[in-house]
Amino acid sequence: MDLPGRHGAEINAALELSPLPSGVDWDGSIAYLDRDGVLNYGKSDYINSVAELKVIEGAGRAVGELRRAGFRICVVTNQSPIGRGLWDDVLLSSIHEELMKRLLNEDVDAEIDLILYSPFVPWSVSYIRKPRPGMLEIGRQILSSDGNGNTVAKLILADEYALSRPSEGLRSCIVGDRPADISAGLAHGVRIFCVNEREGLPSVTGRILDSSDRGDNY
Ligand SMILES: [Mg+2]
Repeated sequence: MDLPGRHGAEINAALELSPLPSGVDWDGSIAYLDRDGVLNYGKSDYINSVAELKVIEGAGRAVGELRRAGFRICVVTNQSPIGRGLWDDVLLSSIHEELMKRLLNEDVDAEIDLILYSPFVPWSVSYIRKPRPGMLEIGRQILSSDGNGNTVAKLILADEYALSRPSEGLRSCIVGDRPADISAGLAHGVRIFCVNEREGLPSVTGRILDSSDRGDNY
């Protein structure tokens, strides 16, 4: 079974969630965020170094607002350069460290709870690569596992996930700039917010926080 990479930990390591701002309770809602075009500007030939990372202005405040409203944040990003052999998880990790630092610099509450990445190439048609929903299913299980200090013993996917489906937060959503993000969100059954790649997350924060907004129609 393919599994995604996880920033800073083995995929099934125990997760220690930091408290939400001002003691807000978590109602199970997760904002699944695509990375490029949502938090930072994308590039046609990938973000290949920390120097190429340009964070979208307001993305940090947007993440902070979501967490203040009780969302957990799970970044789900396709990173085929790893599968193509262009660079490795260590380089990706340095980019993600810098991304998290800059978000926090803009807003002290802008913590990313979990970053999952798919190293698989498009022609692998991996369940773990968007447009398929594997990363969202894994993210749900890891974020739901917090509190007992145990490793995430058994991760399940696809049919098995559908059978014993962990309940998804009512306000959960995916934010992305591409059809692959929309398809993954549809398959996982969360609200969908499609953004312009130059505007990113800040352009839909208000809509995400409005729980009567059912997201974009597809
Ligand atoms: Mg994108």
